[in-house]
Amino acid sequence: MQTKAVEDYLKAIYEVQEREGRVATSALAERLQISAASATGMIKKLAEMGLVSHEPYQGVRLTEPGRKIALEVIRHHRLVETYLVEAMGLTWDKVHDEAEKWEHVLSEELEDRMDEMLGRPTHDPHGAPIPTREGHIPETPRLKLSEAVAGETVTIAQVADDDAAMLRYLGERGLYPGVAVTVTHIEPFEGPLTVRREDRDISLGRPVAECIKVRRPGEA
Ligand SMILES: [Zn+2]
Repeated sequence: MQTKAVEDYLKAIYEVQEREGRVATSALAERLQISAASATGMIKKLAEMGLVSHEPYQGVRLTEPGRKIALEVIRHHRLVETYLVEAMGLTWDKVHDEAEKWEHVLSEELEDRMDEMLGRPTHDPHGAPIPTREGHIPETPRLKLSEAVAGETVTIAQVADDDAAMLRYLGERGLYPGVAVTVTHIEPFEGPLTVRREDRDISLGRPVAECIKVRRPGEA
């Protein structure tokens, strides 16, 4: 049985694993906004289904079948977001919530049709890589804009997809994946940083800069 809840858990485990390497029950509970007890119960259930392994002190890990399901759901999510932007003309701040629903119900046939129609896209509108049908997924960049140094020019690779207000904020400033920015100034003591895009200076607070992944020149 593969319910929506199971898919959401597997996706969350995959995302925490990607971000932090190790998946603690507490991190998962926080990500899903549930109690630690509910998370523990669900992990036990997923382990019984053979979708995760749970070793003491090692945290939770997806098994190969668990990883396959997670990547399939993520593929749906990111293809739907791309479809809604590219084919239906929605703005990038309006697609995540829709994709959260579609990702569970998209048939393989429709998925394939969408993929073909869009020209087999490799990344969604937020710059997140779209897993292939076979479950291959390119590395996501790890460097955050907040970690860049003053004077450095970097290219925006990916932005967080789940905060619509922030996406509108970034869009208004032209900060999309593929856009190059130069860090011109960093305020000390965790203060904001200033980036220059073309000839415009943009001040960004830390929490925003932390949600933007960037690439240094020459990085794949
Ligand atoms: Zn999304």
